[in-house]
Amino acid sequence: MTTIAFIGLGHMGRPMAANLARGGFSVLGFDLVPELCEEARAAGVPIAASANEAAEQADIVITMLPAGKHVLAAYRGGDEPGLLEAARPGTLFLDCSTIAVDEARAAAELAVAAGHRALDAPVSGGVVGAEKGTLAFMVGGEPADFAAASPALEAMGARIVHCGGGGLGQAAKVCNNMILGVTQIAVAEAFVLGERLGLSHQALFDVASNASGQCWALTTNCPVPGPVPTSPANNSYEPGFAGALMAKDLGLAEQMIALTGVDAQLGLLAQSRYAAFAAGPGAQQDFSGIINTIREESVE
Ligand code: NAD
Repeated sequence: MTTIAFIGLGHMGRPMAANLARGGFSVLGFDLVPELCEEARAAGVPIAASANEAAEQADIVITMLPAGKHVLAAYRGGDEPGLLEAARPGTLFLDCSTIAVDEARAAAELAVAAGHRALDAPVSGGVVGAEKGTLAFMVGGEPADFAAASPALEAMGARIVHCGGGGLGQAAKVCNNMILGVTQIAVAEAFVLGERLGLSHQALFDVASNASGQCWALTTNCPVPGPVPTSPANNSYEPGFAGALMAKDLGLAEQMIALTGVDAQLGLLAQSRYAAFAAGPGAQQDFSGIINTIREESVE
């Protein structure tokens, strides 16, 4: 039986680890927060005494941590040895956190230099997708390692795409979320413009959702209440996908735009708008709540 160390049992990690345990894997979880370890245990995830104790016994080490610095620190260690030193040679390191492409490549290089194998496998689908086991995985790394990880990925997700070599899973994630941030703002601006022109929300929705303005930000995450009853706008902008997470992902896009020199003006504008949105109450709201900022900042 494949043994999986699962490090990081937060909003996403706990349900993902629980799905692996339900899927017949031998899972050993760990989080720095003892309460989260207890919640995961209650959800059926056996807990190790430390991250290294979990890694020592694992065939696959999955990390689901807040940001790149946490992944690199966990791999490298500090006063204590890191996961790379604790694991047996040849262990497959699978990082599912959303981190920068260059950080993902650095993490994979460290893993390979320590005698291991590595994949980046960020996800989309949020906490609901993690709970239902319907996450989308975007994976970067060697084909043989992708094949070895696939049974575990299938226990946690519904759509699994091998995007290419190391870092390209994170590249796909950052590009997709840049499209999402830009289109959510574009849809919100169009609704506010329509309001000013006397157009009803429903009429604009009926036209745009069947015309060339059609996109996920409109037809699933419609930023006004009414046309799509399940969109967060109908529920006081309860996330959904929180503004803080969109701001984080667009911050990664900004880093990658700077690294590559791409003339991505709309991506950078979306980044600055979401950074401002997430600096206030928008951090905890669905990111479609940016429509309220657009209304407030429109001249009377
Ligand atoms: P979270 O903050 O709820 O969970 C991260 C966990 O990692 C925390 O519980 C923290 O205590 C733990 N941790 C940090 N360093 C650790 C270490 N060295 N050892 C053990 N545990 C450690 O975050 P989350 O919402 O679960 O997101 C995790 C990752 O997934 C992030 O990179 C996020 O951007 C990405 N993501 C989140 C969502 C979402 O909807 N929440 C969706 C897609 C992607």
